[in-house]
Amino acid sequence: MTTAQRHTADELRALAEQAGRDLEDAPALEILRWATATFGSRFAVTSSMEDAVVAHLASRAAPGVDVVFLDTGYHFPETIGTRDAVAAVMDVRVITLTPRQSVAEQDAEYGPKLHDRDPDLCCALRKVRPLEEGLTGYDAWATGLRRDESPTRANTPVVGWDARRGKVKVSPIARWTQDDVDSYVAEHGVLTNPLLMDGYASVGCAPCTRRVLEGEDARAGRWAGRAKTECGLHG
Ligand code: SF4
Repeated sequence: MTTAQRHTADELRALAEQAGRDLEDAPALEILRWATATFGSRFAVTSSMEDAVVAHLASRAAPGVDVVFLDTGYHFPETIGTRDAVAAVMDVRVITLTPRQSVAEQDAEYGPKLHDRDPDLCCALRKVRPLEEGLTGYDAWATGLRRDESPTRANTPVVGWDARRGKVKVSPIARWTQDDVDSYVAEHGVLTNPLLMDGYASVGCAPCTRRVLEGEDARAGRWAGRAKTECGLHG
């Protein structure tokens, strides 16, 4: 991959705002091509390994692109297997980020099952901080956020400014529907997490994820029974 010119925070914000307008109607691949042409090796894709659609798109736009995965220590084995399969078969470089503390170390300091007592703190320690640290060397990051996933994601821009991290945030499939995802997966034989065939519509950490019921939105199975809907990565 090319190493693009470094940008100041003001330049990055201006780039994000302009691209958000220019690329609103662009195909996902074109959005990713813009990101890789603009940021080179300072661009990474993040993946929860629910499916590998964005990683697959990015591998077409930028072979060898960095794909960042957060290993919270609480994932389903199927999710770890999906990550390993992506690393084995796709032209991407999978980078696994881990929290500072193992689950055992966290249990020793905060008590067991922090996810049941204070999920915001658990997510802060096991997701938000590791991602913040892991993205330090990048100017832009891509996510698989989609507007149709939940009301909290309905206004996701295809390219926006991540003010908290001072980075450009790219959501190339923001406009896609579940049908678009299913079609892409079928057409390209993209790897998906086996749990998607087992009643799960959105896959996160095992203690905080359940199957969805008929008529529920895709993220209803995350932190079910709690007001929490997001882990803080996209706030
Ligand atoms: S999703 Fe649950 S287990 Fe995973 S980091 Fe957040 S609170 Fe902890």
